[in-house]
Amino acid sequence: MMLLRLVILLVIVAVLMWLLKRLFSTEPEPEQLETSHSETMRQCRYCGVHVPESSIVWVEDKPYCCREHAELDQ
Ligand SMILES: [Zn+2]
Repeated sequence: MMLLRLVILLVIVAVLMWLLKRLFSTEPEPEQLETSHSETMRQCRYCGVHVPESSIVWVEDKPYCCREHAELDQ
């Protein structure tokens, strides 16, 4: 019976190790970090926050972080 307990314990440890490996392998995403670093940052005309150029809202050639700020600045 002692051997059976040991086997069950080993299986639990193995499953835990596998879960931890999966968690750690999905956490760091170097590809996403690289793209955000190479992207040009624009400053919102209203609040001054820096936003990547792809998510900037352009209104009358002025950059804004969101549609609300573009409307507030009018
Ligand atoms: Zn803003």
